[in-house]
Amino acid sequence: MKRVLVTGGAGFIGSHLCERLLKEGNDVICLDNYFTGSKKNIAHLLDNPYFELVRHDVTSPYFAEVDEIYNLACPASPVHYQYNPIKTIKTSVMGAINMLGLAKRVKARILQASTSEVYGDPEIHPQTEDYWGNVNPIGIRSCYDEGKRCAETLFMDYHNQNNVDIKIIRIFNTYGPNMNPDDGRVVSNFIVQALQNEDITIFGDGSQTRSFQYVDDLVEGMSRMMQTRHNFTGPVNIGNPNEFTILELAQNVIELTNSKSKIINLPLPQDDPTQRQPDISLAKKELDNWEPKIQLREGLQKTITYFDTLLKDQ
Ligand code: NAD
Ligand code: UDP
Repeated sequence: MKRVLVTGGAGFIGSHLCERLLKEGNDVICLDNYFTGSKKNIAHLLDNPYFELVRHDVTSPYFAEVDEIYNLACPASPVHYQYNPIKTIKTSVMGAINMLGLAKRVKARILQASTSEVYGDPEIHPQTEDYWGNVNPIGIRSCYDEGKRCAETLFMDYHNQNNVDIKIIRIFNTYGPNMNPDDGRVVSNFIVQALQNEDITIFGDGSQTRSFQYVDDLVEGMSRMMQTRHNFTGPVNIGNPNEFTILELAQNVIELTNSKSKIINLPLPQDDPTQRQPDISLAKKELDNWEPKIQLREGLQKTITYFDTLLKDQ
């Protein structure tokens, strides 16, 4: 039995990961400061004797004997990471230093949840891991993008200088159950708006694209990356290469919910990337032919069912 630490474990992705790790027979420590996560996401795991919940902020050091660390702690939605940008960058940078320090001390393998945002507003399409990105260092998204870029640098430096056993994955837009209804990201916004027959808020003209990955596919990729061969550190893209415009996403959500919502257009936020699509050749090669299994409409349906129940219970 392995002891696994999941930082940000009460968040959207972290809660799915904790559930899977427990099912696989691991002893799981879930660490979170509940900034964007919620005890509700992991409430069903609390009775499990192999699950431990710790309120802690990764900007402070944490000590525990663990075999593996998944470092997910960081707000991921632009609304939340821009709320306190200094805290966001501290979370990425000091969080990485603290968790890498722990990994070094206890000789744990450590995986960093990096992001497609390291590519910024990409000039090459689709994005491969060797592309260095096009990121504004002083814009409203920089606290997140540059924090995650610096975390990647720290991971590589701890690996090269101190031999820490690291893994870096670059996650592309992921959605699914356990997203916070107030999260502010596009999939949860559109579904909640559609279910309540409120206006669907498209920022800009809706021609910008994203490639949406269902959470189960991500967790499978994450788990394979953690178990992969010792000298493969990544970074590796984990995302669904099927690309949609934001307008197409809105139309799909309206159709699947039978909603009476109207689409309205609001101003496009500063530095909003115009396109994003992962090249997943490296993940397929290194992670035993990993590729996403759940396509957009099936994943949206599962997520709609989740939010429908949640909103009725409120
Ligand atoms: P989320 O906001 O639901 O989860 C983040 C979790 O981290 C929350 O539970 C939050 O309370 C916790 N947290 C934040 N700051 C913390 C701190 N200082 N100390 C301890 N805990 C803290 O977001 P998510 O979508 O589950 O994202 C999880 C990770 O995956 C993040 O690192 C994010 O950057 C990365 N990621 C997500 C996506 C996506 O599309 N969902 C894409 C790329 C990368
Ligand atoms: N977006 C939108 N309406 C919303 C929320 C987001 O049109 O209510 C757009 C946003 O401008 C961006 C895309 O949807 O172009 C994805 O936004 P999200 O915040 O989900 O993720 P990110 O921009 O970080 O990829």
